[in-house]
Amino acid sequence: MSLLDRLVASGKTRLHIGGEWVPAGDASTFPVVDPATEETIAEVSSGSEGDMASAIGAAHDAFPAWAEAAPRVRGEILRRVFELLTEREDELAELITRENGKALSDSLGEMRYGAEFFRWFSEEAVRNRGEVYRSPSGDKRIFVVNQPVGVSLLVTPWNFPIAMGTRKVAPALAAGCSVVLKPASDTPLAALALADVFAEAGCPPGVINVVPARRSGPVVAAAVADSRVRKLSFTGSTEVGKTLLGLAARRVLNVSMELGGNAPFLVLGDADLDAAVTGAMQAKMRNAGEACTAANRFYVAAEVADEFADRLAAAMGSLRVGSGMEPGVDVGPLINAPTRDKVAALVAEAADGGTVLTGGTAPKGRGYFYLPTVIKDVARDAGILTTEIFGPVAPIVRVDDLDDAIAQANDTDTGLVAYLYTRDERAGLKVAERLDTGMVGLNRGLISDPSAPFGGVKESGLGREGSHHGIHEFLEPKYIGTNW
Ligand code: NAD
Repeated sequence: MSLLDRLVASGKTRLHIGGEWVPAGDASTFPVVDPATEETIAEVSSGSEGDMASAIGAAHDAFPAWAEAAPRVRGEILRRVFELLTEREDELAELITRENGKALSDSLGEMRYGAEFFRWFSEEAVRNRGEVYRSPSGDKRIFVVNQPVGVSLLVTPWNFPIAMGTRKVAPALAAGCSVVLKPASDTPLAALALADVFAEAGCPPGVINVVPARRSGPVVAAAVADSRVRKLSFTGSTEVGKTLLGLAARRVLNVSMELGGNAPFLVLGDADLDAAVTGAMQAKMRNAGEACTAANRFYVAAEVADEFADRLAAAMGSLRVGSGMEPGVDVGPLINAPTRDKVAALVAEAADGGTVLTGGTAPKGRGYFYLPTVIKDVARDAGILTTEIFGPVAPIVRVDDLDDAIAQANDTDTGLVAYLYTRDERAGLKVAERLDTGMVGLNRGLISDPSAPFGGVKESGLGREGSHHGIHEFLEPKYIGTNW
């Protein structure tokens, strides 16, 4: 029996509150659709404002004992979760593909990345160090202890159904916080499966609660207004992030925001083109382009632009598009029809003036597919360069000099990640410092790593996930002044 069938048969498609699987108070449900077939694969309970309040209550009750638990105890539960996720990565990857559509190889990559947050933060849980020092005037000792911020509301997107959750749950629990996780309405199943693994790993009831909700806006707004919630950690679009920042401001709520990107990918004239194309394929095509880190705009030195475009088009054109569940498929469907239609509209506009080298169409038939596409000589004012594409499309712009490339790269409101290819590492480091982003891939197309600080500047967000920084998003320093 598949994991999906087991979740459905055992009622684990209901809300997970206080260690129990419960229906929504008003018994409402919503469908989860397989993007490859457009068929409903499960009905999931749709939490209301009242259900959210119950989940916050459960997290609030569980918080004192969890915060007090020995760090080693918390760390070992997280380690056990890492082990269970790793043992079951194949069936969890299949579940991700069923609800999100991405190719199984992408889902497996997501599982490994997602599980690593539990290994990393099981180790960080026991390294919550404070400080002691003497004040400059000598009148006292200054003690600083880092305490868990409290009940944390975690809101996640559909593009990495497990990893965007684990990247928040692992540091929150390591810090001693209890959580309510509100997964994306398109992909709630992986988060429910994660809650099930936690119960098996010996996590006390109420420490992790999961509340899917069809009406995300009002249900999340109610949670943000609840005085028992002390932290909001959100990953999703900049638009929704701004709305939530507004709501959080009313309570001066502690927030972390991982928002949208518009990543530039720079290829300098001296770049190793084989490496640049390999990196471009990773930066563009992981998750069929549905990643906040996806390369969104390629700025390529004029002298290598045609060759780079031809090589990239050959690589993109050779990818196999199909149901993510089929072995050998590289590119699954996009998440839903509006996303596919948005991609098609951006390509149509960019093709007016640019040259489509491969792709440029949505295959006929069922499923929200779009062909891997390369467009060269895209006009500098094309909407595709200022919009997060979230699809398998690479627009290429020819640039004449480095300053122009950097100016173009920085000419955006977002600043999550940038990629840069050059054989001159020293020059590359200098350029990296001039790019207005939280992260730079220098001769690398894939840089996400649980042990590195992930996050953006400008409208791409506030705070960092992963590394030793990640746990501090869920800790508050407390200063105690005293004399010996
Ligand atoms: P989204 O903003 O539509 O949804 C994110 C989450 O918020 C979901 O759980 C959704 O149900 C919920 N939500 C939607 N409307 C809401 C509202 N009005 N109030 C409260 N909650 C609401 O984003 P998405 O379409 O799920 O994800 C794609 C976006 O996420 C892209 O912009 C992508 O760049 C971004 N993203 C960023 C990162 C990062 O780490 N910076 C990672 C992954 C995705």
